[in-house]
Amino acid sequence: MKYEALQQLVDGARQIVFFGGAGVSTESGIPDFRSVDGLYHQKYDYPPEQILSHTFFMKRPEEFFRFYRDKMLPLDAKPNAAHLKLAQWEQEGKLIGVVTQNIDGLHQAAGSRKVFELHGSIHRNYCMKCGRFYAPEYIRDSRDPVPCCECGGRIKPDVVLYEEGLDNDVVSGAVHAISKADLMIVAGTSLTVYPAAGLLRYFRGSHLVLINRDATPVDDECELVIHDKVGEVLGSLA
Ligand code: ZN
Repeated sequence: MKYEALQQLVDGARQIVFFGGAGVSTESGIPDFRSVDGLYHQKYDYPPEQILSHTFFMKRPEEFFRFYRDKMLPLDAKPNAAHLKLAQWEQEGKLIGVVTQNIDGLHQAAGSRKVFELHGSIHRNYCMKCGRFYAPEYIRDSRDPVPCCECGGRIKPDVVLYEEGLDNDVVSGAVHAISKADLMIVAGTSLTVYPAAGLLRYFRGSHLVLINRDATPVDDECELVIHDKVGEVLGSLA
């Protein structure tokens, strides 16, 4: 019933924008790295949100990269039904952008091109000294605890750490897409989490849909709310 309602909204939309969080990638086997669970506490002396901060990266790079290699480089993960459906809609000309909080690059792997990665990407890595580019495999396979450039500089993943600001160009691209959309699908995130809540203000379309496994405090504000897995929902649509 709800899936049919969503299908009707998608059929009637001309410019869909998708806003996704960690829940979009869980069906690809990627856990929400920001959720603190017992496993992290057993293995690491610090909570993930502290390890993934700019201060920590600068002061304790060995510990940072131990966690980063272990938890944040799922280079063998594959796009799931949600990623594939969004790429298909873009191909068909009815989706104008994917705004994501994920850093795994799975939307691009599925074929999406208009992707706004608010928190950066594990697929881009730069030398902090000379700016040389490195593939994520270099970080994964480096024998040094802290991966270094040929010039001796430290390599930094192009992901937005805690205490760091979002990229202005990415944010304005996301705002532009959201402000033009007539249907906005928010999925795998609760709308209360930064920056989702702020970006939502720019949506001027008439149809707002939320797909999230758990209830959120803003369910009442959405036209349609579906509490299921994102891939299951989108994968069932045409
Ligand atoms: Zn360098």
